[in-house]
Parts: sequence; C-alpha cells; structure tokens
Amino acid sequence: MNPPGVAHSKVEVHHGRCISCAGCVGVCPVDTITLRELSLTIEQDPCISCGLCIQMCPVGALTPGPAYGSAPTAKANRVLVVS
Ligand code: SF4
Ligand code: SF4
Repeated sequence: MNPPGVAHSKVEVHHGRCISCAGCVGVCPVDTITLRELSLTIEQDPCISCGLCIQMCPVGALTPGPAYGSAPTAKANRVLVVS
C-alpha cells in the first residue's frame, strides 16, 4: 500500500498485479520495500529512484510515480557501493 499522497510517490504499487514474489524487496539498496502478509509497502521518503525494483518486477506491478527522480527525504538505511 502506498502512503497517502500519491503525488509524492516515487514508485507506485499496482497491488492487483503483484504476485508477492519479493524480488523487489531483495534488490532495493535502501531497504524501503517491505512485504508483510502478502501486502507490499514502499516507504517513499528514503527511495533514491534507482529503478531496480521496477526492472526486477516480473509482472509490471511497479511503475514510476510523479515524484520519481526527486531526492530522498529520509536517511537511507544502507548505501549501495559499486566498485
Ligand atoms: S526505486 Fe530503488 S530505492 Fe526506490 S524503492 Fe525501488 S529499489 Fe528501492
Ligand atoms: S517484484 Fe513485483 S510481483 Fe514481486 S513482490 Fe515486488 S511488486 Fe510484487
């Protein structure tokens, strides 16, 4: 479930398509996606708009929202380092 204020969402979840495979949860570099009791939630503030979850989703259940590309507004839990 997206939090209220879809205008601020970076990644939108289309729950009707989601098959709860958890693939997006595993790739998010800031751990802002949770899957609990087959319901997916994306905490939008820490999202860095990397797009990995959107690419990972096998059923097109994640799409960029209006705020995709805007800066994260909360401290990331984890930093992805690419060498
Ligand atoms: S776009 Fe990147 S940072 Fe944002 S929720 Fe998806 S995987 Fe996480
Ligand atoms: S990758 Fe797609 S189908 Fe799998 S849990 Fe995430 S949103 Fe649902």
